[in-house]
Formats: sequence, C-alpha cells, structure tokens
Amino acid sequence: MTHAVGFIGLGNMGGPMAANLVRAGHRVSGFDLAPEALRQAADAGVRPAASAADAVAGADLVVTMLPAGRHVLAAYADLLPAARPGTLFVDCSTIDVADARAAHGLALAAGHRAVDAPVSGGVPGATAASLTFMVGAADGDFADVEPVLAAMGRRIVHCGSSGAGQAAKICNNMILGISMIAVSEAFVLGESLGLSHQALFDVASTASGQCWALTTNCPVPGPVPASPANRDYLPGFAAALMAKDLGLAADAAKAAGVPAELGVRAAELFADFAAGQGRGLDFSAIVTTLGGARG
Ligand code: NAD
Repeated sequence: MTHAVGFIGLGNMGGPMAANLVRAGHRVSGFDLAPEALRQAADAGVRPAASAADAVAGADLVVTMLPAGRHVLAAYADLLPAARPGTLFVDCSTIDVADARAAHGLALAAGHRAVDAPVSGGVPGATAASLTFMVGAADGDFADVEPVLAAMGRRIVHCGSSGAGQAAKICNNMILGISMIAVSEAFVLGESLGLSHQALFDVASTASGQCWALTTNCPVPGPVPASPANRDYLPGFAAALMAKDLGLAADAAKAAGVPAELGVRAAELFADFAAGQGRGLDFSAIVTTLGGARG
C-alpha cells in the first residue's frame, strides 16, 4: 500500500530517507527551511511544498526529521491543525524522551495518531535504506507504520509505547559513548605499558573487551582499515551528535533519578570535546584528548 506522505526536514538524513520513500512508490510532499535541501529533494522526486502546512495538507502520513525536540514541538504547532484528522505522525528525529511524549500527546489531542521512530545507521544507512528504526507506538500504529519504515530501513524494532523508541536510542548511544572512552583509555594505557595497538586489538577483539567501538570504529589507525582514525577522523559519526545524544541520556537519567555515573561523565567529556578540538571530527577522535593515538 502506498501513502501520501508529508516529509518535514530534508537535511542530511531526511533528504535520502524521503528519496527512498519516493523510490518505493509513495507520493512525497516535502518541506525544509533551507532552500538547497528542498531543491535536492525535488531532484529526487519529492514535491517541494511552499510551507510545512502545505506539505501535510493532503497527507495520510507525516514524517519529521528535525534537529532537536524544540524543532519538533514547534513544527507540530503548524502541522497538527493543517493535517487531515487521523493522520499518522512519525517523528524520526533523535529527541528528549519527555519531548517525544509531549509531541505524542499534542498529536493525539488534535485527533491524530503518533509514533516515535528514531534511527541509527547515519547518512550511509539513510542513503542505502538500511537504517535501524526504534519505534515507540501502540500496536495498531506500529502495524501501519512498519511497511513504510521498511522502505527506508532494514531493521524495525517495536520497543514499546510512546517514547520507547527514543529511550532505546539514547540508551544504546550511552553504551556506545562510554565504550568508546573505555576502548580509547585502554589503547592509551596499553601504549604506556609498551603494548602495540595491533597486539591489544588482536586480543581484545576476540576476548571479553570486544565491542563495536573497538572492532568497527577502532579509535586508533591501523587495526580496522575502514575506521575514521585512518582518514584523520573525518566522520563517521560526528562528535557533536554523540555529545547531543549523551546529553539527552544524561537528562533522562537525571529526570528518572538514575545515577548513570559513567553516562553522565561521558556526556561531559564529549560536550567539551565537541565544542573544542573535536569540532567536525568523528567521535572516536576523543582518544587524542586522552594522550593516545601515537600511531
Ligand atoms: P540536518 O541538520 O542535516 O537536517 C535537519 C533539517 O531540518 C535541516 O535541513 C533544517 O533546515 C531543517 N529544519 C529545521 N527546522 C525546520 C522546520 N521548522 N521546518 C522545516 N525544516 C526544518 O540534521 P540530520 O543529520 O539530518 O539529523 C536529523 C535528526 O536525525 C537529528 O535529530 C539527529 O540527531 C538524528 N540522527 C542523525 C544522524 C546522522 O548521522 N546525521 C544519525 C542518526 C540520527
């Protein structure tokens, strides 16, 4: 079944995601505040709308892919009154769990349906339609949204009710942020103990230290040729995005009364790094602030 989709936010992620919906046969009407993003989406077959309200006027499903919770809530203020009653709103942005639940409540109060469906897989995953979607939705809404998400991703996980998708996303990225620091500290300590990067990698990658931060995104050059460390730490997954996601995790931990000491510390380290020497770099470059990566 194909849909009339309103797509709001056609940036690095939203642009290729909207293009994949077009490829799957959906009729996509899109809007972005940035004219260049709108033009590129039009080249991919998206109908460029004059405003956000115009993009959703004839839609039965609306996707938002915006920077942060405040953008989603502000956009919903325009979108909810403009959409037909019963429209299914799908927010794919990574935002605060509380903002996700607030957006969900606003959509329901306006007579619509809503799910949160943040993604992992980055721009390559958005382009190749191989994203993982983490979905917070009522059962019936999940059944309706799953085939649409399948046009943009490879793995679609129903995590629970409203907000559960965002919760899964920030918990996963908290594991990733902490584990990247752990792997980086281990390389720095190994160096100072006279251990080569390759020797530590050969042991830890097949032992209990094994993790994605080590075996896929290895923070030192050499052991994993495709990791950003081998190309001057060009992202990859930008330090700023990791800082944002860890900030959301730290806020959620605080609100829930959970200490999450390492998650909170990782959020501080990545916030400093992203605002300073990590600007524009992959998050794995944090190893260079720990005294490591001597090659
Ligand atoms: P981006 O900045 O490239 O795109 C966001 C777009 O939203 C921009 O083009 C901006 O002009 C537009 N926009 C902002 N407010 C708007 C409004 N009111 N109406 C219409 N358009 C508006 O960001 P991105 O990299 O595409 O990320 C989008 C979301 O996906 C973020 O929440 C991010 O955390 C998440 N995410 C990104 C990645 C990644 O690797 N880039 C990976 C996973 C998740």
